[in-house]
Amino acid sequence: MTGFEATRGWAQSQDAADPLRAFRDEFHIPPHHGRETLYFCGNSLGLQPKGVRAAVEAELADWSELAVEAHFRGRSPWMHYHEYVRDTMADVVGAQPHEVVAMNTLGVNLHLMMVSFYRPTVERPAILMEAGAFPTDRYALESQVRFHGFDPATDLIEIQPDGPGGTLSMAAIEQAIAEHGHRVALVVLPGVQYRTGQVFDLAAIVRLARAQGCLVGFDLAHAVGNLPLALHDSGADFAVWCTYKYLNAGPGAVAGCFVHERHATADVPRFAGWWGHDKSTRFQMGPQFVPTPGADGWQLSNPPILALAPLRASLDVFTRAGMPNLVAKSRRLTSYLDWLIRSRLDDTLDIVTPNDPQQRGAQLSVRVRAGRDAGRALFGYLEQQGIIGDWREPDVIRLSPTPLYNRFADCLGAVEAIEAWRGTQA
Ligand SMILES: *Cc1c(COP(=O)(O)O)cnc(C)c1O
Repeated sequence: MTGFEATRGWAQSQDAADPLRAFRDEFHIPPHHGRETLYFCGNSLGLQPKGVRAAVEAELADWSELAVEAHFRGRSPWMHYHEYVRDTMADVVGAQPHEVVAMNTLGVNLHLMMVSFYRPTVERPAILMEAGAFPTDRYALESQVRFHGFDPATDLIEIQPDGPGGTLSMAAIEQAIAEHGHRVALVVLPGVQYRTGQVFDLAAIVRLARAQGCLVGFDLAHAVGNLPLALHDSGADFAVWCTYKYLNAGPGAVAGCFVHERHATADVPRFAGWWGHDKSTRFQMGPQFVPTPGADGWQLSNPPILALAPLRASLDVFTRAGMPNLVAKSRRLTSYLDWLIRSRLDDTLDIVTPNDPQQRGAQLSVRVRAGRDAGRALFGYLEQQGIIGDWREPDVIRLSPTPLYNRFADCLGAVEAIEAWRGTQA
């Protein structure tokens, strides 16, 4: 019914017919004993686009040849450098250009956004989040609740997973917002849950939360560059994301931040810095902070050029490939891996990630049925074979075929390796 076949010939014919196949050659595929690794870890650290080296070297050259003058006379004048990624980033997340800015890192941006958009009162002190969130998100939210003098025991409300494999149903989110909404200042949820790979319906969450008078922010670490996003239309108040996962901008790369245009000139508290000051008068060096309208107004420091250059190169790849094309390929590729696992490894693996392609992105999270120790053993075996996924406690292996550089043949290769491992277990 799916038209999929579990043969090398079929997988290779799909790869040959793939309109995006040339993009794989734009990435460095890490070697493994003279072969290429099968890299399924773009959800954690995307591979290096070959264009990155030249982009960084151009800035190093301008620094050595022009030094301070490169701010104005460089090939890409540094004064405006963060603006060079604005349109492409806005495109990837479905926002207006003035709603996005590249700055800092995800955790920093999450805190900066909460400074402005988590304004607890005695009547409405709480933050609503998911139980089992990525640790930094919980640390950040809990510390904000404490910072404002409230008690996380009552004012950090966590929605418990209620679905198969630890997923969270929309009904549970709806119920939590209905029950606690009147006490909730801010709802923070992910676009894609990092452990289960489940996708959340951002627009539906915003509708429910706003109806109860709550603000809403999203952590899109695992959604950006993975899913079609329409942040502006979703109505979210803010969103944050990192750029080293599906966006391939390199370890610790400069992160992204979205502030909905309804807040573009809002008079809200914020932690200010000179790069957020109105651009036209920034260099008058006056004592009074006047924010630039839009997301740019939340910047603190002049941008890290050497860390932005890779992001610029990696977003260029996304622009040329096109998110709709990437999403179309991603759905087929992940469906193929899902189908292979269900048809060939059903006795060995459980898939945690929802089966509905609308409720997942590239990532499939699997558990080994024989338990955690067997899971660790399989994970180690795959690493030795040059098949790179990642392990998330307590017992999940994440495999994320990404449409820019993974192939149908990679999916088949991974499943054949797991079958070989199963053969050693009996
Ligand atoms: C990857 C990830 C982070 C990482 O935060 P950094 O500030 O970039 O270290 C945070 N939250 C989620 C949900 C993530 O997936």
